Parts: sequence; C-alpha cells; structure tokens
Amino acid sequence: MKADLHLHTTASDGRLEPDEIVSLAVSVGLDVIAITDHDTTDGVVPALAAARSVKSLKVIPGVENHTDVTRGEVHVLGYFIDYTDKKLIAILQKLRESRRGRAQKMIAKLRDLGMKIDWQRVSELAQGGTIGRPHISQALLEKGYVSSEKEAFDKYIGHNGPAYVERYKLLPVEVVKLILEARGLPVLAHPADISDLDELVPKLKAAGLIGLEVYYRDYDSDTIAKLAKIAKKYNLIPTGGTDYHAFGDGSEVGIGGAISPSRSVEQLFALASKRSLELLK
Ligand code: AMP
Ligand code: FE
Ligand code: FE
Ligand code: ZN
Repeated sequence: MKADLHLHTTASDGRLEPDEIVSLAVSVGLDVIAITDHDTTDGVVPALAAARSVKSLKVIPGVENHTDVTRGEVHVLGYFIDYTDKKLIAILQKLRESRRGRAQKMIAKLRDLGMKIDWQRVSELAQGGTIGRPHISQALLEKGYVSSEKEAFDKYIGHNGPAYVERYKLLPVEVVKLILEARGLPVLAHPADISDLDELVPKLKAAGLIGLEVYYRDYDSDTIAKLAKIAKKYNLIPTGGTDYHAFGDGSEVGIGGAISPSRSVEQLFALASKRSLELLK
C-alpha cells in the first residue's frame, strides 16, 4: 500500500487544484492520500469528489496547523477531521483572517525595503485560498526582485528575515485538542526540526496525539530511526508524507516520494472507523 499523507492544494499554498492532485496521485500509483492544507479543509470536498470514480485511491480528509512555540515551528496534522464541525470552521477562519492581515503587513515591510509588490496580486495568486508566504515569494519572483522563491525566503520572508511578521497561532496542545474535538486524529508533522522534541512529545501525547510523522520528504535513515524510536517509546503511529506543494522549482520531493508504512495506514483507518462507530452510539 502506497500512502502519501501530507499534501497541499490551491486551497492553501499548493499549486495544483485538488482534482489535479488526485489525478497525479493516481498516475504515480498511490493508494491513499491525505489532503492537509494550512488552516483550511476547502480542498477536501473537491478531492473526495474527484476520487469518487477512482476505485484504486482513497482520500483522507485532513488539515495542517502551525502552532506558536518560542523556539522553531511546530505543525500538527489532523486526519479524518470532521470538516463540517462548526467550531473547527470558525477557528480555521480566524486563523486565515490573521494570515491576511499579516500578509498585508509583510507587503508593507517589503515596500519599505524597496520591493513593490501589491496585495491585489498576492491575493490573486492565493485564488481565494489560505494566504501563505509562498504567495508572497511568488509575487516577488514575478517582479524580478529575487531569482527564486527560495531566495525570497532566505533573504526576506524567512523566520528571521527583515520582512517577516508573526501571526495569530494556537499552542500545540490547543491544536491537538481542536482536532480531537472535530473527531480528527492528531499527528505531529515533520518533527525532526523541533528542538525540544523530547519535552514536547509526552505533553502532546497526554493531550491525545496519536501519531508522529517519521517518514518525511528526504529524511535520512538516521533521522527516521531516531523518530521511529520516539514513536515507539510513546506508542505513536509512525506516519509519512512528502508535504508536496507542486512548487515546480525542483526544491521538493515528488508526490509519493515519502510514504506511510502500510500497518500505520491500517491503524489510522481502524481508529477512524472506531471513532465513527462511537458517534453512532
Ligand atoms: P506560512 O504558512 O505563511 O507561514 O508559510 C509557510 C509555508 O512556506 C510552508 O508551508 C512552505 O510551504 C513554505 N516555506 C517555508 N519555508 C520555506 C523556504 N525556506 N523555502 C521555500 N518555501 C518555504
Ligand atoms: Fe505550505
Ligand atoms: Fe508543515
Ligand atoms: Zn505541509
């Protein structure tokens, strides 16, 4: 079973429409995918619709949330999330609104630095989806202020860059709880870049975390072994995915280039069906 459980679409900062991601997944022979856009589930319904006629592919509804920590970034994925949950919808909307205000502030900072990109263009590039820094890097590249989007991150809009602006985020434990309340399965994303992982994981586990993204992009075998050990220690399901955005600049691992162990996928589906059975009671 080939399952890439971390994919972005135009609903956030991915560059392929949900139905295009589904077609691509089918063409590379994937059996399961998860749509995990930043702060939105708007790509889920179109992806499910596109996959309805494809027997060989299952689509897991998901979401990805960035959270606030003092050092580095912590991202949490939510699988099998109930995308009709009212509280979830309201919080995701608030997070997206804060991203809009923040993008406008970043554009103002870039103007002060002599780079004139406008909000209208950035908003156009986001196509009504969750606004992210990749839409700003795309606008900077279009105007020729940088020669690659990576350069935009490295020089201006990366975490320590002169045009970076913070935005409203939830705490890691709050996101885990939010996902659980919306009947989803919370999994800690790309954990290798988290510095205090040994402190964070038990806290999140106590809050209800069920998995750890052990296989990610081009993680090497040492990284995978270290993360697999942590997953085992805390009884977390080891998952995997590429975080594919279709940026098209050669910077990414292609869709299906990192996958979840089959047993893990089976465990996720089993947990999800157990949860829906509980809801029927
Ligand atoms: P934001 O959601 O606005 O905080 O932007 C984060 C997104 O920007 C990530 O999900 C990636 O898609 C992208 N990103 C983050 N860092 C980089 C980087 N160094 N180079 C290119 N893209 C990046
Ligand atoms: Fe992204
Ligand atoms: Fe992420
Ligand atoms: Zn992601």
